[in-house]
Amino acid sequence: MPVPTLGNPQNTIEILKKYNFSFQKKFGQNFLIDTRVLDKIIAAADITRDDFVLEIGPGIGTMTQYLAAAAGKVTAVEIDKALIPILADTLKDYDNVNIVNQDILKMDIQRLVDEENGGKPVKVVANLPYYITTPIIMGLFESHVPIESITVMVQKEVADRMQVGPGTKDYGALSLAVQYYARPYIVANVPPNCFMPRPKVGSAVIRLTVHEEPPVQVEDERLMFRIIRASFNQRRKTLANGLKNSAELNLPREVIEESIAELGKGPGIRGEALTLEEFALLSNIIYHRINGQPENHEQNRERRT
Ligand code: SAM
Repeated sequence: MPVPTLGNPQNTIEILKKYNFSFQKKFGQNFLIDTRVLDKIIAAADITRDDFVLEIGPGIGTMTQYLAAAAGKVTAVEIDKALIPILADTLKDYDNVNIVNQDILKMDIQRLVDEENGGKPVKVVANLPYYITTPIIMGLFESHVPIESITVMVQKEVADRMQVGPGTKDYGALSLAVQYYARPYIVANVPPNCFMPRPKVGSAVIRLTVHEEPPVQVEDERLMFRIIRASFNQRRKTLANGLKNSAELNLPREVIEESIAELGKGPGIRGEALTLEEFALLSNIIYHRINGQPENHEQNRERRT
């Protein structure tokens, strides 16, 4: 496999000039120009020849070259059609790369993985466009595609949000989703000068190792995430008011009040004080109140979490 040639400022500038490429701010284009950071990402993603890698947003193909050199197969999804002829050039020596010109948020990821890899497990690696980090990560989790790990460059603040617990200002729906689906680990902090053009914010590489089994058992995942979203929609409100004001949940107020009491919490409790285990328990309590009450609360409470 050829040795990667991009990943340094000179070769990146040369390619950009050759194709007279202009950066599109609306696509969150900040290309990596630091080979040490690229090496760290590849090492953290733990890519071998047996792996199928899905890359989101290959840009001019900088990280794609590194991925192709390490993996069995790489499929990269890029929205900007101006980058497609550039990718054809920078990746011409790699025979294990497929470029798809699409918006990742509009793609059926399950179908892509079935077609590209026969439905076998995937490792996702990307320097993400920051304006859509959360929908991309949530879309990957909720697709229920067999994903082993997601190793991504994100805004530093978002990486922090992904791994905090209750009682901190960064704790929210994203932290809970990440902890439900995966084990987060911040691999490295990356300063703005490792990108072209330089982003205004600091960045971090985070690896999310997807759980084989979620750490809590929930009767209805979608219900739990609706409850979580409603709890954090209005941060200064109590949990009860957050849930009552949610059109998406549309629950009778007595169900909400009685369920919070059954959880063992007072009426003044706020959503940001609950752990993942408590959200799972609350959603199971609500689920049973809507769909029929189990007979023995204490027994069921234990069985449900
Ligand atoms: N991987 C390259 C690198 O590290 O140098 C580029 C990373 S750049 C931060 C993000 C890339 O995602 C850009 O190439 C951008 O055009 C692409 N992108 C933005 N929105 C996208 C979307 N909705 N679907 C697919 N690609 C997208």
